Amino acid sequence: MIEVQNLSKCFQNGNECIWAIKNVSFHVNRGEIFGIIGLSGAGKSTLIRCLNRLEEPTQGKIIIDGVDITALDKRELRAKRKDIGMIFQHFNLLSQKTTYENIALPLELAGLGKKEINSRVNELLEYVGLRDKRNAYPSQLSGGQKQRVAIARALANNPKILLSDEATSALDPKTTKSILELLNRIRNELGLTIVMITHQIEVVKDICDRVAIMENGEIVEINTVEELFRRP
Ligand code: ADP
Ligand code: ADP
Repeated sequence: MIEVQNLSKCFQNGNECIWAIKNVSFHVNRGEIFGIIGLSGAGKSTLIRCLNRLEEPTQGKIIIDGVDITALDKRELRAKRKDIGMIFQHFNLLSQKTTYENIALPLELAGLGKKEINSRVNELLEYVGLRDKRNAYPSQLSGGQKQRVAIARALANNPKILLSDEATSALDPKTTKSILELLNRIRNELGLTIVMITHQIEVVKDICDRVAIMENGEIVEINTVEELFRRP
């Protein structure tokens, strides 16, 4: 599903290169929940942002469903990005728009008509359990509700992959649990492949199939959750 080959990312600092990712290779299977853990500054965020080219990789290939996305031009990339949804720690909702409008936005950008948008948004509201919050603004929602809106928005165009950048880090343990249950349903019922970065070991133990451990821009180990946590 996702094949990352010898990926490196340099942030230019004057004449110097800061290598945030150093020659990283791994694959993610279809329908897998793949975790990436590591300390702050390890390169997790840069790595996941390369997967939809919010960051431009410096070297290497990222092959998604047989297509090397590092080789796509702007127009091709825009089309491919419909297959890749993303959620963030701080939700990134538009504060001047309601729940309904936030979820409708990617559908409007995709050129759907009003009727289609209406029925798709209603379906998504139902799926994430926010039917009664359709007219609420983000400031009127709890953290968990905001993340549900963000998840519905990420799912709007029926992506195949969901990228999650610390999606539960700003939430209390109970809300975290309910968001993880939603992500698990999205994998099981909708068949999405999920790549999630987190610094929370409990999150990884709870829903990841395999985990990559990052240190200093490198992946130092990839293993199943069972193997990783069985050790003394
Ligand atoms: P993590 O998500 O694991 O905390 P990041 O990917 O955010 O790690 O950062 C990895 C390294 O890249 C850090 O040394 C960070 O300072 C550096 N870095 C990240 N983004 C930028 C940027 N836009 N410009 C320069 N350096 C950056
Ligand atoms: P963090 O998780 O480190 O708090 P985020 O991952 O939420 O930060 O956001 C990092 C940056 O990415 C922000 O500056 C945000 O504006 C930008 N960003 C978020 N979503 C998108 C998007 N869909 N397209 C382009 N840029 C985005």
